[in-house]
Amino acid sequence: MIVDLPEKFSMEGVAVIENGILKIMRYIAFSDIMYELTYQMKGRNICGYCKKEKEKKKMTLDHMYPQELGGPTIPNNLLPCCKKCNRTKGNLTSKEFRKYLKKKQEEKGKYLEKVQKHQEKLKKKGKYHIPIDWIEERKVSDLKLLWTPNYSDTKYKKVRKYYEETGMFKKIVIVDRNNQILSGAVSYIVAKKMKLKTITVIPLENVELTV
Ligand SMILES: [Zn+2]
Repeated sequence: MIVDLPEKFSMEGVAVIENGILKIMRYIAFSDIMYELTYQMKGRNICGYCKKEKEKKKMTLDHMYPQELGGPTIPNNLLPCCKKCNRTKGNLTSKEFRKYLKKKQEEKGKYLEKVQKHQEKLKKKGKYHIPIDWIEERKVSDLKLLWTPNYSDTKYKKVRKYYEETGMFKKIVIVDRNNQILSGAVSYIVAKKMKLKTITVIPLENVELTV
């Protein structure tokens, strides 16, 4: 997939856009680069849901497709919004949340129940709740992890347990145009240890790790 990028972008010594490609030159949390890109493109102080202007400390970034359902931390899936809206939104997608906001007070509870059931069903089927054209299956052996992720044994066990229960990794592996892992390293490590042949990834065709 193609990540939404601004025409110009630069994070001193970390990342730069050249000929439409985001080049990442140093290992820092991938999400920090994605947050900065999003703010530069979508603004920092207007809530994407209630449209109110807020102070910076009352703003946050919402995952339009929730992380719980596989929603990645990339600008295409991030929306600056106020903390209040983000709290109310919970695990709804942005589309569901907009519908929810329009419902009459007495209909809201029922609507939430319906959405919850739908999400449970997807989870049971081992299906992500994100656009299908964002993801691809890749051979685990084709992926390259060139940095050392920092994670605990507890985290490893949690990721593995979730996979064993649902057949999916909640945090989808994100790779650059050369199959280098940008995010989701623990999911990849679990997949490798479990000797899985393939894994679902989000390939970012206009991102390149050049470390
Ligand atoms: Zn708001």
